[in-house]
Amino acid sequence: MSQVRRVLILGGGISGLLAAWHLRRRGHEVEVWEAAAAVGGWAQTLAWPGPQGEPGWLERGPQGLRVAREGALARLLGELDLKPLPAAPRGPRWLGRDGRRHPSPATFTGLLRAPGLSLGGKLRLLAEPLIPAGTDPGETLHAFFARRLGEGFARAWLPALVGGLLAAPPERLGLDAVPHLRHLEAQGGLLLGGLRLGPERTRLLPGGTGALAKALATRLGEVRAGSPARALEALPTGRWRVHGAAIASEADAVVLALPSRQAAALLAPITPQAATWLEELPSLDLRVWHSRHAPVPGWERGFGLLIHPPEGQGLLGAVAFAADDPRGVPGLLQVRTYLGGAYPVAPELEAWPSVFAALRRWLPELPEAIQVREETCPAAFPLLEPGHGGRVARLPAALPPSLHWVGAARFGPGIPELAESLEAWAASIRP
Ligand SMILES: Cc1cc2nc3c(=O)[nH]c(=O)nc-3n(C[C@H](O)[C@H](O)[C@H](O)COP(=O)(O)OP(=O)(O)OC[C@H]3O[C@@H](n4cnc5c(N)ncnc54)[C@H](O)[C@@H]3O)c2cc1C
Repeated sequence: MSQVRRVLILGGGISGLLAAWHLRRRGHEVEVWEAAAAVGGWAQTLAWPGPQGEPGWLERGPQGLRVAREGALARLLGELDLKPLPAAPRGPRWLGRDGRRHPSPATFTGLLRAPGLSLGGKLRLLAEPLIPAGTDPGETLHAFFARRLGEGFARAWLPALVGGLLAAPPERLGLDAVPHLRHLEAQGGLLLGGLRLGPERTRLLPGGTGALAKALATRLGEVRAGSPARALEALPTGRWRVHGAAIASEADAVVLALPSRQAAALLAPITPQAATWLEELPSLDLRVWHSRHAPVPGWERGFGLLIHPPEGQGLLGAVAFAADDPRGVPGLLQVRTYLGGAYPVAPELEAWPSVFAALRRWLPELPEAIQVREETCPAAFPLLEPGHGGRVARLPAALPPSLHWVGAARFGPGIPELAESLEAWAASIRP
């Protein structure tokens, strides 16, 4: 690093905090502005007291973190001295299709047992390790899985797996939506690559996922919550002045760690072309219901349910905490139910009673809720369509050299991808 630069980072979600963390480690002086009263963006653990006022929490975004054996996220957790809780066994995982639930085909044995696939379709799955790596950079997730696992799997089961996890149909998503698939393929395929790279375990942080943002903010120190950036001003000296509601601050460089719409609004007067490109990046709205119920025998380790999209009518799936999850209220089953994304939600699924009735179709054992709370997630996910990587790759060149844009729409939809990419990004730029 040649020279200490003062960098102002706008947005105190995981992307902004990680950008600040890595730039500061490279010797720069950083300050983060976050519009909301708390840092973390989607990755926040919110207090949700139990029916008697007992302590309890819900996750606004990720319920847990996928941590690979090695990699940027594992390194980061080590640096922050955040120790994930030991990975506990998980409860049943199901896929809802043809009006009932089946064991999830997200594992190889589950795949072989999955109904709806002909014998030929099942034998085709076994050929997966023999399939060569693809060469089409614009391949959709549907085309990728049809190539590797056969058209039967791609039609019968993939829509529910992808819809439940990424809230969009596999035909509308490119491989940028799951960058890990490229790594697996480079290592010999889904099966061999999985064996070589080791499993990615979903781990829980003491204090919930929000503990990551809190730890970063505490260690960074220079984080102003409740400070929305309102305008950017290019100074004749080549520096930047950022205007907030009541404050202004100058810096050598500015990092926009914002969802694409908010970044576009700030950039419009400075570089209209980049602002237009950002405006054009689509994103998905999600509706999430959190509910608490009396416990159900057999679901002590929680559960996961993904629903075949045409049958869900916008209801994508549900996931439950394990009974001993420190975020839940002891003695109650805590469920999170998702709707929407790229799928239209049937008008009758507007309110909790009808959402619950629809859930019971798949989970007849689920008792009436004792508590419910709805959290809407506008523009929760970027929609990473085929060709998305190329569209965002032209953005850095359209920005002045000391203005940067980072975030999920640039680097990938999840926290592991953000951790990996922002570490590499900070090493590659001179802010
Ligand atoms: C329901 C849900 C489930 C998810 N599940 C998973 C999962 O299982 N695994 C996974 O890895 N990821 C998951 N994600 C995605 C993950 O949460 C996001 O990828 C990640 O949190 C995005 O972080 P970010 O910093 O890029 O954006 P954000 O979290 O959107 O942060 C942007 C920040 O910028 C702030 N801001 C906006 N405008 C301004 C302004 N003008 N000035 C200053 N600040 C501003 C916002 O307040 C916000 O805090 C999930 C997300 C949701 C919503």
